[in-house]
Amino acid sequence: MNQHAEAAAPLLELVGVGRTYGSGRRTTTALSGVDLAVRPGRSVGIVGESGAGKSTLLRLLLALDRPTQGQVLYRGEPLAHRDRAAVRRFRRDVQIVFQDPRSSLDPRMTVGSVVAEPLRSLRVPGDRRARVTEVLGWVGLEPDAADRYPAQFSGGQRQRIAIARALAPSPSVLVGDEPVSALDVSVREQVLDLLRRLRTELGLTLVLVSHDIAVVGQLCEETVVLHDGRVVEQAPTPQLLTHPQHPYTQRLLAAVPHLPAP
Ligand code: ADP
Repeated sequence: MNQHAEAAAPLLELVGVGRTYGSGRRTTTALSGVDLAVRPGRSVGIVGESGAGKSTLLRLLLALDRPTQGQVLYRGEPLAHRDRAAVRRFRRDVQIVFQDPRSSLDPRMTVGSVVAEPLRSLRVPGDRRARVTEVLGWVGLEPDAADRYPAQFSGGQRQRIAIARALAPSPSVLVGDEPVSALDVSVREQVLDLLRRLRTELGLTLVLVSHDIAVVGQLCEETVVLHDGRVVEQAPTPQLLTHPQHPYTQRLLAAVPHLPAP
């Protein structure tokens, strides 16, 4: 275990976080009492079945929603939502890749415009065209991809475009919401390999949400298991895969036919 990274201050932190939807008698508690730290160089996987609270947790981490209990901290402080420059710094630093590139990429925009969009909206200085070429190269696409449209690419390539867009503003954290679930099995491994390589080469910290513990197991140093809105287990991934403590984690693992070594 990397002791230095372990001791590093969290980039993102949830402290006693809860999220209840609705009011009066019609309430749903989606999350309750969640403590979670995302530290530099320690990628975190969040697993759980449908309804466990994964999307709610992601929205809170991305500051797209606010908790009804507890606090969400970015680099040790609550995000000042009224401070637009602070929000832009946060949005640059914490980027997201969604599940389905078909719906997350605007079909009317060229790939170059798609990838440059966060540079424009977050007012990132520098030569945008050069940056677009650079990040397309990182995900294995040629510079002329910039002049084409998302529909001209395969599903796996479109997810590479979405990853390039997320990388463009140089984030520290890349959040993936089921980033390979919509892809054909044959291209899944390629996109996971790409994420693994980017993690190492760019020093990115990943936060991956997946219903599939095998996906998270390949890429994340830490794994958090969510069940009914609570963290039932949180451990270094190799330990969680070999010695799951909670019966729910044991059930999740039993459902995976073959787990690749982390
Ligand atoms: P997951 O992503 O793991 O499937 P969610 O975070 O989407 O889980 O949902 C957790 C729980 O919160 C579920 O019971 C869900 O029905 C409920 N929930 C999620 N979003 C809302 C909402 N906007 N209004 C009411 N209930 C919600």
